[in-house]
Amino acid sequence: ALDIRGVRKCFGKGEHTVEVLKKIDIDVAPGEFLILVGPSGCGKSTLLNIIAGLEEPTEGAIHLGGRNVIGVPPAQRDIAMVFQSYALYPTMNVADNIGFALEMRKVPKAERQRRIQEVAAMLQITHLLDRRPSQLSGGQRQRVAMGRALAREPQLFLFDEPLSNLDAKLRVEMRAEIKRLHQASGITSVYVTHDQIEAMTLGSRIAVMKDGVLQQLGTPDDIYNRPANTYVATFIGSPT
Ligand code: ATP
Ligand code: MG
Repeated sequence: ALDIRGVRKCFGKGEHTVEVLKKIDIDVAPGEFLILVGPSGCGKSTLLNIIAGLEEPTEGAIHLGGRNVIGVPPAQRDIAMVFQSYALYPTMNVADNIGFALEMRKVPKAERQRRIQEVAAMLQITHLLDRRPSQLSGGQRQRVAMGRALAREPQLFLFDEPLSNLDAKLRVEMRAEIKRLHQASGITSVYVTHDQIEAMTLGSRIAVMKDGVLQQLGTPDDIYNRPANTYVATFIGSPT
């Protein structure tokens, strides 16, 4: 479903150029939940931003559903992104936040309402639909952010550390929620996290990056029991 081909990204000009991504190749199968891990600054968010169309790669291609989407505006890529900060629209209630993208796409009101109800039921936030974001807890806001992404029925979900602002208890709850949503929707997902447990329990495969280079791509079992190098072993905490 998603094919990342030879993606390079440089920031800056001339002698100040920094190569943040070095020829990244990753194939994400339809319906797969791919985890992306690596130390701070290794290029995870940059890669997600390139997939979403918020940044252009210096070189390489991104194929989504068979077509190269480089140059295609973000809104036309059929991708939904959930960030660490929820960025809900503060003046709109929960229902309007969830339905906003549908309204932009001129989905008729009745269909919009149906979709909002469906997504709200899935996320158990039906009782919150009339509230403003400021009247919600952190976990509830994150659910709304996810609902907003889900309502669009995207071809691809991108998550950039969506749970890192939540306390430990909520994180555990939301982790289970995300797993359930993925199983129910079957939407191909790429999920960036710093959390080892999220990485080991959510992903069908894990991609480990360091300094803009993919170190290993494999199942949790591969990564943990057969790390490709000492860096991966240390990062993932394998028994050696
Ligand atoms: P974290 O885990 O801290 O979120 P990350 O893996 O997501 O880190 P990126 O945000 O992708 O890292 O950044 C990768 C590198 O690219 C960093 O060194 C960062 O400073 C640099 N970088 C990111 N965006 C820009 C930009 N617009 N201009 C210049 N450098 C940038
Ligand atoms: Mg990041």
